[in-house]
Amino acid sequence: MTDSADGPTLRVSVAGAADRDSLDAVRDRAERTAVVETGSTGAPSGPYAYVTVDGRTALYAAVTDSTLERLVDACEEGSLPTAEAEAVTDGDGPPRPTEGPLSVGTRRVLEGCGWHAPTASPDPVAPEVRADPERAFETVEEIGLLGRGRADAAADEPLAESWGRIRETDGDPVLVVNAADADPEAHADRLLCASAAGRLYDAADAVAAVVGAEDVIVLAPAEDPLVVERLEAAGEWHVVAAEDDFRLGEPTMALERLEGNDRIEARRRPPGPEEWGLYGRPTAVHTPRTLLQAAEFWRNPEAFDADTADPGTRLVSVGGDVAAPTTIELPTDVPLSRALSAVDSPANARFAVGGRFGGLTRSLDVPVAAPALSAAGLGTEGVVEVLGPDRCIVASVGERAAFAREENCGRCVPCREGSKQLHEALRAVYDGEFDAGEIRELSRVMATTSLCTFGETAARPVRTALEDFEGEFRAHADGRCPAGACGGMQ
Ligand code: SF4
Repeated sequence: MTDSADGPTLRVSVAGAADRDSLDAVRDRAERTAVVETGSTGAPSGPYAYVTVDGRTALYAAVTDSTLERLVDACEEGSLPTAEAEAVTDGDGPPRPTEGPLSVGTRRVLEGCGWHAPTASPDPVAPEVRADPERAFETVEEIGLLGRGRADAAADEPLAESWGRIRETDGDPVLVVNAADADPEAHADRLLCASAAGRLYDAADAVAAVVGAEDVIVLAPAEDPLVVERLEAAGEWHVVAAEDDFRLGEPTMALERLEGNDRIEARRRPPGPEEWGLYGRPTAVHTPRTLLQAAEFWRNPEAFDADTADPGTRLVSVGGDVAAPTTIELPTDVPLSRALSAVDSPANARFAVGGRFGGLTRSLDVPVAAPALSAAGLGTEGVVEVLGPDRCIVASVGERAAFAREENCGRCVPCREGSKQLHEALRAVYDGEFDAGEIRELSRVMATTSLCTFGETAARPVRTALEDFEGEFRAHADGRCPAGACGGMQ
């Protein structure tokens, strides 16, 4: 399916019911203008609109109903109003402004977001991959493409290894698209589902061909009906809407949810989902980010460098204490600090890198590549949470420890008991008892002996905070909050 049109075209990003009402009003006004509903670009200042007239395209940010009326009237007259445009191009594709979030990084996976209709799949890769899945597998093996996101069973590991195990396992393979990660600051996968569901379907179709899967199942966030609607409209796959649950970001717990189990627990590995997955079938569990990165590689292999440890690009969502969260795409060899160009970040900010259980740091001077982030003790979830100077680091890690204590599945002792002890050790700081050695040892045990990534990463916030902010813990033990913001831990 494509969304091309020959005459004047007005593309409007729709992120909710109100935006759709605005779009419908414009459609009623248009006679010769093609009005295309698109998804978000990933940038704030929405809704965005693109107007194309006679091969020239202009981009408009934060459009109101009256702006849309003016734009469609101009389209009807065959003119392109450029005075209020953010950017204009004579070429194909969406123009990029020279400043603001849309100017930051590279836009390959994100390029169609806000430009193509969400269910469109221009330039599909699946037909070519289906024609020679063996070659498609070999090229991914040669380039060393890694999985993306904690909800992916091959997170930060070579996709070809995961696919190879599936191909070698007897059974009826299935592909699960895990789009239900409920980390509050991780927006990339939902953005891709909402804005590029058609391209995602094509990418999943291609990967299904490589692993020999006949079925594709999507685990989608139920609380976002627009995402579910667009996924269902994108193709012939089975979309399962799941309630908001951080644990579904653990691939085997996502499988438990799909099997309808009341009590969601992580599964022991080995065997991994590749050998024993959904109902015992060989199962590929991938995030939308992974699937679209693989599709982008097959579409444009010369843009990927096999000599890097993490070929391709990474999507990074920047949120927290910023005016408006945004999601951008960065090459893996640039410093993560580049992401701050997309937002208004407060001075003297600190950062949680990698989502709820990410690492806390003062510096983003580390490459975006997953191996570099891991080596720095940070998370690879593609999330930078900005913590302003009036945020208390000790309270922040305490909240994350409390979440781990409440939300772990309870299956293994290191995580279940460790998260309790961790929370207690942090609360004791407020009573003047700070034992950095005890906290570090607890963190080490949880990281090395927990059954799944939930427990492996749950103590990362406090462990990394002790590296960069130990003085703040000591200050709290002395009854003082350096940020002047701390009301204590719950
Ligand atoms: S690490 Fe935590 S979430 Fe994972 S199985 Fe153990 S108790 Fe459950």
